[in-house]
Amino acid sequence: MKKKILVIEDNEQNLYLATFILEKHGYEVFAARDGKEGVDMAGSVRPDLILLDIQLPVMDGYAVARQLRTNAELSRIPIIAVTSYAMTGDREKTIEAGCNGYIEKPINPDTFLQQVEKHLVATGIKGGEE
Ligand code: MN
Repeated sequence: MKKKILVIEDNEQNLYLATFILEKHGYEVFAARDGKEGVDMAGSVRPDLILLDIQLPVMDGYAVARQLRTNAELSRIPIIAVTSYAMTGDREKTIEAGCNGYIEKPINPDTFLQQVEKHLVATGIKGGEE
């Protein structure tokens, strides 16, 4: 079974790049383009990992993380914030909202997969092979 990763991202270029890298390495990628769609898809897809942009339309990433953490069936899915919103305290805010980790934008094609898999290993999910 391929591992499923839900990417919640409203920027088409970032979404394309993340999807391209993850699919190339054997992950099944699901995309949501706003926070509400992201929460809904987390419920229907039940991904192994969520990559979460913070600046999103409809519902921002903090609200998405908080909502997922209050849902008993979805609260254990690891969430990695992916954001360039680099204000002081921002990383702490993502953790407080319920994220397990943080990847900084811009997405670096040379290190992105490694960063994602580091979080998969840390949460016991491991890599994309069957
Ligand atoms: Mn965004």
